[in-house]
Amino acid sequence: MESLIKRAAKDLAESKYAIALTGAGMSTESEIPDFRGPKGIWTTNKEAEAKAYQRYELFLNNPRAYWEEMLGLQGTYGTFHEQIRQAKPNPGHYALAELEALGLLKCVITQNIDGLHKKAGSKRVLEYHGSVNAVRCISCGSRFAWEEVSLDELPPRCKCGAVLKDDVVHFKEPIPLDVMEESEKEALGCDLMLICGTSAVVYPFANLPRMARFHTRRLFAGLDVVGYKTNVKIIEVNADPTPLTHEGVSDYLIQGKTGEILPRIVEELRKA
Ligand code: NAD
Repeated sequence: MESLIKRAAKDLAESKYAIALTGAGMSTESEIPDFRGPKGIWTTNKEAEAKAYQRYELFLNNPRAYWEEMLGLQGTYGTFHEQIRQAKPNPGHYALAELEALGLLKCVITQNIDGLHKKAGSKRVLEYHGSVNAVRCISCGSRFAWEEVSLDELPPRCKCGAVLKDDVVHFKEPIPLDVMEESEKEALGCDLMLICGTSAVVYPFANLPRMARFHTRRLFAGLDVVGYKTNVKIIEVNADPTPLTHEGVSDYLIQGKTGEILPRIVEELRKA
């Protein structure tokens, strides 16, 4: 492990445009459970998983009932939100913020909805699956802070007239275009990607490392040929191997906790 930490520090120091991709594993050390880890919400509660798959459909079919359920904050969903509200960033979040402050990390693209990267001081954060801290118009895409939205009448509406939804992106809900386009641009343009605490099985997010790793070339009559970018480093910091490890998308895996490994990488960089 020690030699991989040194290797990651060296790769980061030599990179020109490094970015980080993060998932729920990043926040388990802040007492927010992940979904698919050994103690994950869905590993331990299959009913909660089934319900999560239906949430966007409920919103589309009956936005008022969706809002009433959300504001009532009952069941597993409410408990999860309470855990998020009380959570504080852990050393892993702070380490990524420090890498950005040192000029070694250009942005964090996170699947997390907990806002902990921003709380830890990361400035450039793309919240791919939205955030519990905002409300979004499903039509024009405008985002609002909760305090700006009147909940006197449900469902609340945007100035454009469309229904508002919390910003968290549910299964079967499209990823907001602005954040999707910006994330793809980052993945295509980076020369180092640090992937932290994700099972890398949720799409389209899990395509971002593949966008960084491979490129397509248009040859002859519209034929796309997939090429392998040798000048890009992809490093995983995960408790367990993922499809990215098995498929050779990542160069190497540093297996363990993000809250322990990321600060050690920063420490190594400071020594240099
Ligand atoms: P996931 O639950 O599918 O996978 C988390 C992965 O992280 C697992 O493979 C687990 O082994 C690993 N892990 C757990 N603790 C770790 C640690 N301390 N260090 C390193 N690795 C650790 O999560 P995902 O891949 O992010 O995808 C699931 C979806 O869950 C995302 O859309 C996300 O929005 C949502 N989610 C978010 C939060 C949050 O905001 N904190 C929490 C749960 C789920």
